[in-house]
Amino acid sequence: MKAPSPPRSDHMRRAMRNLLLLVLVAIGLSLAALPRIERSFLAKTSDRESATLRIATESLRGALSRSEALPALLAERPILTDLLHDPTNVGLLPFVNEQLRQTALTLDLADIYVMDAKGLTIAASNYRREDSFVGRSFAFRPYFTDAMREGRGRFHALGLTSGQRGYYFAAPIIDETEILGVVAVKILLHGFEETWRNGDNTILVTDPNNVIFLSDREDWHFNTLGPVADGVLAAIDATRQYPLERIRTLDVAHEAVAPSVDLLRIQTREGPEEYLSNVGLIAAAGWRVWVLTPTGPAIAQARQVLALLILLSLFAGLVAALFLQRRARALEQQAQQRIYQETLIDRVAERTADLNAANRQLLQEVDERRATEDQLRRTQSELVQAGKLAALGQMSAGLSHEFNQPLAAVKAYAENALTLMERGRQEEARSNMGLILQMADRMAAISRHLRNFARRPQEKIGPVPLIPVLEDVLSLMDNRIKAAEARITIDRPEGDIFVMGGQVRLQQVLVNLLANALDAMETQPAPEIGIRVAGLDSGRWIVEVRDHGEGLTDDTMAQLFDPFFTTKSPGKGLGLGLSISYNIVRDFGGTLSARNHPEGGAIFAVELDDARDRVAEDEVAAQ
Ligand code: ADP
Repeated sequence: MKAPSPPRSDHMRRAMRNLLLLVLVAIGLSLAALPRIERSFLAKTSDRESATLRIATESLRGALSRSEALPALLAERPILTDLLHDPTNVGLLPFVNEQLRQTALTLDLADIYVMDAKGLTIAASNYRREDSFVGRSFAFRPYFTDAMREGRGRFHALGLTSGQRGYYFAAPIIDETEILGVVAVKILLHGFEETWRNGDNTILVTDPNNVIFLSDREDWHFNTLGPVADGVLAAIDATRQYPLERIRTLDVAHEAVAPSVDLLRIQTREGPEEYLSNVGLIAAAGWRVWVLTPTGPAIAQARQVLALLILLSLFAGLVAALFLQRRARALEQQAQQRIYQETLIDRVAERTADLNAANRQLLQEVDERRATEDQLRRTQSELVQAGKLAALGQMSAGLSHEFNQPLAAVKAYAENALTLMERGRQEEARSNMGLILQMADRMAAISRHLRNFARRPQEKIGPVPLIPVLEDVLSLMDNRIKAAEARITIDRPEGDIFVMGGQVRLQQVLVNLLANALDAMETQPAPEIGIRVAGLDSGRWIVEVRDHGEGLTDDTMAQLFDPFFTTKSPGKGLGLGLSISYNIVRDFGGTLSARNHPEGGAIFAVELDDARDRVAEDEVAAQ
């Protein structure tokens, strides 16, 4: 038998280990890919937010540029020149104030105001208010100095009186060549913060010094993104741009994670915050506009994708595991089938070998049996002969008597005949001669029987006249019958009876049966043997020999026809008679059986086929 394939658990264990490794590698690769996925999501978010940045930048730039040219336009107004020529003109001042107020309302400006060459405000749109600019000097503000010196000025600052963050544009009021003063407009910008507050992200505007000027996160107002350069604080203080006490430095770190992806990490009191930053520039104001988007959602999305990838890996692993399991099972079944087939083939081969051996043995036994049968047949024939010789021995005493008696009679008849012939009594002598002939015939008959009996049976089976055979047997046994003082009765139908058999062997059978019957009644003073010949319905003939002895015990009945079974003393019986008789009758195609008579004694029955039809064909057999 071939070596069996490895058991299923080994197959499976190896496959499962490989699969687990594969899944782990897939998960590992997914984890390794996480930064890339995060970057990709951040880049996408950054792309999206660049639109927000554009809108914020453009709206701010628009607001500023709308107001940029206004001071120069206003400076053209003659009444402003007139007023500056005569600042104390009480007729003109209220008119100018009112005009400025109306203009500011119309143009949606926070304030419009006019300063003289020293920076003192002489007229303002907010003239009515308590905290009006009128009478206040703004000579320290860069928009004033710039306008005086360079022809225009711009500035952003926290309003000193309003406390609101504003953008200032200023232009000089010139009469011919003399600069009489400056007109300034202020716009408020905190409205933008309201708009920005609605979005998910934080928008802030930093000035060239990195100070956060606008932002929807109020707590960051006037904070700086990173440390400020030397002298900056002094300049801020000089121009009173922002309140110094509110300026704080935010702890900020920049990181460019991809070409278009910049991260901004800010340490706040609540902890670190991380943003994607998109930065735009408003060059005219020197401002930077920052759109800060929290990285949380993008990173969460990236992690979701990662989780999905891992789940997919696991699912693929599961499907693969199922597939492998199926395949392993199929392979195992195939292997088992192979083993089963091989076992079957082996078994068939073994069986065939067994059968061949058994066949050989059988053939050998058949040969042996045949040889034994031959041997048996030979032995049997020898035994038949031996049986016959034994019977002959038994009969010899009687035979000598049988011969002596007629011989003595012949002698007496012959002497008698001689005497009668001498005396011329021819007739009487002839009668004596007749008697002598009879005696000679009788002796010839006896002699013939003996010859036949002693001869090995070479006779053919054919029609045999039953009654003459029976009579011959009785005459052969006559001596013994007489010695036992036995009485023989014969019950037979009229007419000739022919049966199938051999004459001599049939005689032998009947001699045996009669001898056994006499033996069975040995101790009886007047033994009686009943012989019955009858035709059967089957068309066969039956010859029954009945005695009045002890009968047959069960034990005897069981072994009756076995060779050498005898209950007689060693000198008397060989135990061959019935066994030989049985075989003889069987050779004739008949049967020999024994039973007990209900009234005592044994009955031996010989059944033979009727042979009348064949008498004509084979006369010789009947001789
Ligand atoms: P043998 O006569 O030499 O013993 P047989 O084969 O003729 O051999 O008989 C076998 C035995 O069968 C006898 O020994 C006897 O016991 C029994 N047997 C035969 N015939 C009779 C009978 N008529 N009655 C009782 N027993 C018988």
